[in-house]
Amino acid sequence: MPDLDQYRVLFLTGSQHLYGPETLAQVADQSQAIARELAAGVPVRIDWQPVLTDADAIRRAMLAANGDDAVIGVIAWMHTFSPAKMWIGGLTALQKPLLHLHTQANVALPWSEIDFDFMNLNQAAHGDREFGYLESRMGVPRTTVVGHVTDPGVRGKVETWQRAAAGRAAARTLKLARFGDNLRFVAVTEGDKTEAEIRFGMQVNTWGVNELADRVAEVGDAEIDALVAEYDERYDVVPELRAGGERRASLRDGAAIELGLRSFLEEGGFDAFTTNFEDLGALRQLPGLGVQRLMADGYGFGAEGDWKTAALVRIANVMGAGLPGGASLMEDYTYDLTPGQEVILGAHMLEVSPSLTTARPSLEIHPLGIGGKEDPVRLVFDADPGPAVVVAMSDLRDRFRLVANAVEVVAPPEPLPKLPVGRAVWRPQPDFATSATCWLTAGAAHHTVMSTAVGVEAFTEFARMTETELLVIDEATTVGGFEREVRWNAAYHRLARGL
Ligand code: MN
Repeated sequence: MPDLDQYRVLFLTGSQHLYGPETLAQVADQSQAIARELAAGVPVRIDWQPVLTDADAIRRAMLAANGDDAVIGVIAWMHTFSPAKMWIGGLTALQKPLLHLHTQANVALPWSEIDFDFMNLNQAAHGDREFGYLESRMGVPRTTVVGHVTDPGVRGKVETWQRAAAGRAAARTLKLARFGDNLRFVAVTEGDKTEAEIRFGMQVNTWGVNELADRVAEVGDAEIDALVAEYDERYDVVPELRAGGERRASLRDGAAIELGLRSFLEEGGFDAFTTNFEDLGALRQLPGLGVQRLMADGYGFGAEGDWKTAALVRIANVMGAGLPGGASLMEDYTYDLTPGQEVILGAHMLEVSPSLTTARPSLEIHPLGIGGKEDPVRLVFDADPGPAVVVAMSDLRDRFRLVANAVEVVAPPEPLPKLPVGRAVWRPQPDFATSATCWLTAGAAHHTVMSTAVGVEAFTEFARMTETELLVIDEATTVGGFEREVRWNAAYHRLARGL
């Protein structure tokens, strides 16, 4: 399971020598207190650093942040005034996400006590404006958070930024294994894997599916015994798959596929993978159950060779580490167009993560009309009602585009006894027609990651720190405004890349 314990962020405080050692000692005390208070309310460890008062120390602090794989970002706060030309070298060097924290030591002003010493000590109000000028002038991507660190809203924004920074770090270290290529003739699942490595750091490479099938064939009976025992305990296993049931052997095949997959992924250091039902080699079933469980353990997955969605599922799993809910491959499948009650029914052939439900899934076996293999075993459940986001990534040839839609997962209006897969029913914001019109206008994919652990905000931060286009469809979206944004974005992103 992904967790955030391996990561940390550096807390940098800007000042200068002008104020003398006594004031700088106070700055150090107060900024440590602020860092401590903030750290108490956010999931990723915050490491306070000595107060920075000259250009060389600033540059060295940024290089140290770059050089430490555990450091996923830098928080900067100008407690006093820190002339911003001192920060040019450091900001030029910085290769990690930056959060500009605009705060101050005190909440209320001690009005009757204020003298000019207090003013000189507590002048983030203008020190941070000097810093903001330089960040903007240099075009440094950053997140600005304003308010006192005891404010839950401030902590929430810092947490979201930390989670996005963890997602970015996971992308930069991601090794993604594709078993086979893309589903033949499909357009949107294609993409430039070299550009993905340049932009996000992820390594995307392909292995013949029979390398996986060989691994599955090597799995021993004792391992399979142990895993099917776990299935028996964790799921409502249908009678035909239970011990002594007539199709128990199919469940054992499913367990062997899961074990083969796990050993291949663990050995290669892969955190995400794809399969393709057209190209299953010697595998007996389309991997369903194993893929579902691997997603729930934090792996990324995309079906039909869709490595872009596999990466998004991995990133969402890391960003949501430790939170209720989960992340899964999802596919917009079919609609209920009843006027005023329109909903989207999403599912996949098999591969939806059980992290979307808190209920006990049922473990079943049914025929699969395509792929020409034996009947696959799969977990069957409904995603929990509640807020969620669906996010797709398309390759527009000159850039990647993320599109995110805030949605509300709802209970299916009726049971779905003849649809034995993991599934989700949702109502998109702001309404079905606007959502679908914008989605199609953006050229967004039919495969998405659905996250019920983190929302649009985390993907917004992720897009900002990876300098990736993101189009958001939410409560405030109108078709006209969205179309204009798509047009403006085309100009902006082409200019921003340069020639
Ligand atoms: Mn699909």
